[in-house]
Amino acid sequence: MPLSRIAPKRKLVQWLFTLLILGLPFVRMGGESLLRLDAASRTLFFFGTGIRIEEFYLFLIAVLILVFVFLFFTMVFGRVWCGWFCPQTTVSDLVEFLDRKIASLLPGNLLPGILRQVCYLLLSFLISANLIWYFIPPSELLRRLLSGEIGMVAGTTLVTLFFLLYFDIVQIRRTFCKTVCPYGRIQLLTMDRNTLTLEFDPGLKVMCTGCASCKRVCPMGIDIREGLQIECVNCGKCLDACRDVMAKRGREGLIHYTFGQTAEGGGRPLNGRSMLLAGITIALCALMAAGIATRAQATIKIQRGGNGEVRLLPGGGVINFFTAYIENRSARAASFAISLPSPPGIKVDLLGPVTGIRVQPNANRRIDFIVRVTPVPPSSRSLDLHLMRAGRSLSVTPVTLLVK
Ligand code: SF4
Ligand code: SF4
Repeated sequence: MPLSRIAPKRKLVQWLFTLLILGLPFVRMGGESLLRLDAASRTLFFFGTGIRIEEFYLFLIAVLILVFVFLFFTMVFGRVWCGWFCPQTTVSDLVEFLDRKIASLLPGNLLPGILRQVCYLLLSFLISANLIWYFIPPSELLRRLLSGEIGMVAGTTLVTLFFLLYFDIVQIRRTFCKTVCPYGRIQLLTMDRNTLTLEFDPGLKVMCTGCASCKRVCPMGIDIREGLQIECVNCGKCLDACRDVMAKRGREGLIHYTFGQTAEGGGRPLNGRSMLLAGITIALCALMAAGIATRAQATIKIQRGGNGEVRLLPGGGVINFFTAYIENRSARAASFAISLPSPPGIKVDLLGPVTGIRVQPNANRRIDFIVRVTPVPPSSRSLDLHLMRAGRSLSVTPVTLLVK
């Protein structure tokens, strides 16, 4: 019977997740990347929706969802994120693979050394560019690089990231996971007796040959035979190694995944605590979905224009100057109009480009216009200004008409 191995499954997950991270900025919806934070317009593009900084509550909910997903994931699956998904682990695995491959293909020290450095540099550049793509679209970054107009902020960030990543690849790698990674420390608080871990089966200890294969393959440099250690990232390499050793003796491996020890009161990954976290996460997702579904598709902000001047007309009537900022929050370009219905006893006219106002998706447009009222009302008054699209009022904003 062929041995069931963890390594191919883990590799597949790592590749798919890496492709997702690399590819997300290239996939476009509504003319924008699926996921991108545009610093200039302070807008988060998220699956065809542009969420502006003004809608901060949606940002907050999104961050809370991420936090609770991580807490739930860690409580149930332990450090599976670290071993199976984390880019730091994937990069460390990839670099170690490249080192081995180059050493096996090329003799001597000089040539392999040069080739290794070239690979490290290319990898550092790819990862730093990938990070920038979540702020500047890939095509624009390429255009800016080729034309030499990268810009101060983007250029400094790219160069800094490049050198940090190069240093990480050459010097740090898994030391980061063992020492400074904050997520690794947080897991100590969330893991409990039901969390998924690797276990050296205590009932089968007598069968251990003491070959130490499990210890040798461990990327974190620990010995699973000494029990659960916080450095363990659930990668399953020790499990595979032991299965190989024991298969030669016609036995099953001595190391396995387990959701806690039943004897110690564990073994129930879906317990009260984890279900509470799952419930909060689902509630936050529902809140986010409702927030996105009910958010205004367009907004208008009105400011007094013409330095606040109010002009009386020779033939009777008064004019007020205004500036409107119309924001199209939908994923498609749209035409808007501004309307100000005349109340009984006075006639209101809007002068300026107040109809057919074309606004691109997730963009803002400024419109200057004049409100003429005849005859002059006895006192200043407030009127309801409508933002219209396709003959339908989207929002109502009060504007005050001054008579002197
Ligand atoms: S103990 Fe096993 S599962 Fe844990 S990090 Fe080492 S090899 Fe991976
Ligand atoms: S690989 Fe298996 S048999 Fe060898 S030392 Fe580790 S637990 Fe024992």
